[in-house]
Amino acid sequence: MTPVYLDHAATTPLDPEVLDAMMPYLQSEFGNPSSVHGFGQRARGAIDEARAKVAALIGARDSDIVFTGSGTEADNLAIFGVARAAASEPDSSRTDLVTTAIEHHAILNSAKALDRARHKVSLTGAGTDGRIVLQDIDAAVNERTALVSVMLANNETGVVQPLEEVIRIARAKGALVHTDAVQGLGKMEVDTRRLEVDLLTVSAHKIHGPKGVGALFVRSGTRMSALIRGGSQERNRRAGTENVAAIVGFGRAAELAQERLGEDPARIAKLRDRLETQLLEQGRGATQRNGADPRICSTTSISFDGVSGEDLLIALDLAGIAVSTGAACAAGSPEPSHVLKAMGYPRERVNSAIRFSLGRDNTAEEVDRTVEAVTAACSRLRYSRCP
Ligand code: PLP
Repeated sequence: MTPVYLDHAATTPLDPEVLDAMMPYLQSEFGNPSSVHGFGQRARGAIDEARAKVAALIGARDSDIVFTGSGTEADNLAIFGVARAAASEPDSSRTDLVTTAIEHHAILNSAKALDRARHKVSLTGAGTDGRIVLQDIDAAVNERTALVSVMLANNETGVVQPLEEVIRIARAKGALVHTDAVQGLGKMEVDTRRLEVDLLTVSAHKIHGPKGVGALFVRSGTRMSALIRGGSQERNRRAGTENVAAIVGFGRAAELAQERLGEDPARIAKLRDRLETQLLEQGRGATQRNGADPRICSTTSISFDGVSGEDLLIALDLAGIAVSTGAACAAGSPEPSHVLKAMGYPRERVNSAIRFSLGRDNTAEEVDRTVEAVTAACSRLRYSRCP
C-alpha cells in the first residue's frame, strides 16, 4: 500500500514545477550573482524575479525581503538583529524582548542566548485553547521593550494567534513586532499591508519549495544588525553568495502558493475535519483535541488517553502512515512538547499527543485509512498496558 504522509508541518514534498524552475540554476546557469558578466547577471536577474514573487505573496516591497538559509536563520536574524541594533543606540533605552512560551525553538533558543546583561527576556503564557494570553503580553511590554515576537500560527496545534491585538499593544508602547509566519504561509492570508508587523519570517519547504532557504521581511526603516558579515549581498543584511537555485525554487513555490490560496486551504480543512470528527467520535471521550479555533487548515493535535504518543507514532509508521508527536526538530528528544505543557495540560495528555498535518495531495481515502490504523493501534496499545 502506498504510504500516507500526514506530516506537512514538518516539511512538504517539492512541487515538480518548482524543481523544473530550479534545474537550470543547478546546471547551465551557474553564475555568481555578484559577477559582472552575463552568467552573473542572469543569476542576479533570477534572484530579483524570485524576490518579487516572495514579496508578492506577503504584500511586501521587493527591497524588504532578505533571503536566508532557513526559517530558523530568519528568526535568529530578527531576534539578534533587532536586539543588537537596539543595544548599539547611544541612549539604548529599549533593549528587551517579549515573546511567548509556545514559540518554535528557533525563537525560544535565540531568546535564551541573548546576552542577559544587556537584554531582559519575558516569556508569556498560553491558555488551554492554545492562544497566547494578551493580558500577559500587555503586562510584559513596557518602555524598555525593543521587540515583541509572537508566531502567526502554532506548528503543533495550528492555532492562529491574535496578532492584530499584539501589534496594537506593542505599537501603543513603542515596540517593534516580529512574527514567525512559517506555518501560516500558503494556508491563510499573510499580507504585510494589513498585518502591520515590522519583521516576518517565512520558509520555502513548508510551501512545497526546497529546504534550506527562508526569508525575513524587514519593513523599510526597521533598524536591524546583520548576523553574517562578509560581502554586500542582500543589501548588507545577509552576506554570502546566494543559493540561487533554492531562491529560484522559493520564488516559484511562492507563486504557486498564491495561485492555490483560493482553493487548497478549504479543501485541506475539510479533510482535517473529517479526520478529527472520526477520531474524536470513535475515541468516545478517550481522545481530545489540543487547541481551539481559529486554526490553520492543515494541522490538528490529538491526545489519545492511555497511549504513549511515541508508541502510537511507531505503530502508525509500521502501518505506512507518517505523523509526528510534535515539532520535527524536537522529535526523538525525550522532552515532552513545550507547547502543550505551556497550555497547561497534564503530563499524560502531553505525552499521548499526536500531530496530524495534512497537505494538498491527501485524499479522503487516506484519511479513512489513517482513522482505521489509529483505532486499531490504540486498542492494541491500551490492551498491552493492562496489568
Ligand atoms: N518556525 C516555525 C513555526 C516552524 O514550524 C519551523 C519549522 O518547522 C521553523 C520556524 C524553522 O524553519 P526551517 O525549517 O526553515 O528552519
